[in-house]
Amino acid sequence: MSDYEDLLEKGQEEVPEDIGSENRFEIPEIKTRKEGSQTIIEEFKGLVERFNRDEKHLSNYIQNELGTAGHIEGDELVLNGEFRRGKVNEKVHNYADEYLFCPECERPDTEIRKEKGVEILKCQACGARTPV
Ligand SMILES: [Zn+2]
Repeated sequence: MSDYEDLLEKGQEEVPEDIGSENRFEIPEIKTRKEGSQTIIEEFKGLVERFNRDEKHLSNYIQNELGTAGHIEGDELVLNGEFRRGKVNEKVHNYADEYLFCPECERPDTEIRKEKGVEILKCQACGARTPV
């Protein structure tokens, strides 16, 4: 088990049970596979739908964070270079922290709007507006 997975388990244990337990949002475990010198993120489209985000927004984020280029092919995101699954999962979780969960109420019922060139994370649950 990698350090990251260790950390992830710990993090999950520390989340209080009563936070929105009726519809607690789970970030799906990201599956990757290697093809030559490329890393494929499987079911990327499904992840985009789960997050209710623009696929370009998420794919650009992952590419920037990993410092590589890539492209979407069918349901999958193809990245140039070899990346560990744990690393890719970490980036997806970072994305969710930054662009999905409301920092005020921690719900994922948010949308990203551009206002005057600034991206705003708007929460539909509590109405908070956070520049991202
Ligand atoms: Zn909120």
